[in-house]
Amino acid sequence: MALERTYLDWNATAPLCDEARFAMIVALSLPGNASSVHGEGRAARAALEKARRSVARLVGAEPAHVIFTSGATEASNHVLVPEFRMGRAALKIGALYVSAIEHPAIREGGRFASENVHEIPVTAEGVVDLAALEAMLAAHDRNSGLPMVAVMLVNNETGIVQPVAEAAKLAHAVGGLMVVDAVQAAARIAVDINALDADFLIISSHKIGGPKGVGALVTRGEVLMPKPLIRGGGQEKGHRSGTENFFAIVGFGAAAELAFTELDERRDRISSLRARLEEGMRGSAPDVIIHGADVERVSNTCFFTLPGLKSETGQIGFDLEGIALSAGSACSSGKVGESHVLTAMGRDPKLGGLRISLGPATTEADIDRVIAAFAKVAGRRRLDGQAA
Ligand code: PLP
Repeated sequence: MALERTYLDWNATAPLCDEARFAMIVALSLPGNASSVHGEGRAARAALEKARRSVARLVGAEPAHVIFTSGATEASNHVLVPEFRMGRAALKIGALYVSAIEHPAIREGGRFASENVHEIPVTAEGVVDLAALEAMLAAHDRNSGLPMVAVMLVNNETGIVQPVAEAAKLAHAVGGLMVVDAVQAAARIAVDINALDADFLIISSHKIGGPKGVGALVTRGEVLMPKPLIRGGGQEKGHRSGTENFFAIVGFGAAAELAFTELDERRDRISSLRARLEEGMRGSAPDVIIHGADVERVSNTCFFTLPGLKSETGQIGFDLEGIALSAGSACSSGKVGESHVLTAMGRDPKLGGLRISLGPATTEADIDRVIAAFAKVAGRRRLDGQAA
């Protein structure tokens, strides 16, 4: 009999929601190119613009300020660039300041030369150190160009919410730009580009129940724009050429629409599931360390360390129990690396971390299964310890 599976790796990717699936099936029958002026083209354009409105609403932006991309990584590479335009005038960005806990999509620095990318430290609690950022910005050489700051709204490993609006204030006080990776925040907490005082937001469809391979760079206005990454036929008002990934964009829009409508209900329900989970975990292993438990976290993420348990061993142990979770920093090869987030928090990365991330489809029964599996894995760890 096949083992029943429980998927608790929603921060890696969310299963496609039914609304996105259905919207894409309908869109598959639309033959036109959204750039064509005939009826078929206009029908495709209407579906594309509907998706744009839904995505914009999820992050409090104007639809005209949503640029569809192939995902958050492309959006990052688009916006993290020294060459900008302010209307018709060229604008130079001299250096990029990124938090030490950014996803590699940001941390790699996009199109900046590596010597112009500087890391902002985080506190032991996993929160961006604003005093350090302020000092770095004070030391920024304005002759090289303006500074750009990139801080994520929610960390993908710990779920910790970052002080983005405060960081934006510091960036703007010295005439700099603020870029926010809201990939793990969208659909989990209310996101508003204006309230965050961000110049640019980055979001990804597959983290919110839409298809993979589509995302967006959302801008605050239309005057200050980065040099395009992909040039050609001038789609997306010249900011991202190439025929749009139409079906995926339609699915992204449907997922965004649903996430916006269900935001509060999802957050409350998932937060009580996580409380049940963490209580169960502490019950069977009181020494479990839950990272970020004392600071503000999104409700769906639980990143923990079980002393004496390696991430790889833990991940395999849970997988054998039918539970899909992840080590905080699984790289694309599937190899488990040391967590740069734990390192940045000053913790021993060799301790390893495991991440359970919940989603809208997670049930109490799923949580009870993971609590039971956790007790087994934690128990075996003790036995291993005694044998050693
Ligand atoms: N930023 C964060 C915080 C992420 O979690 C991810 C995906 O893991 C990305 C960026 C990259 O997103 P995409 O897969 O759309 O390129």
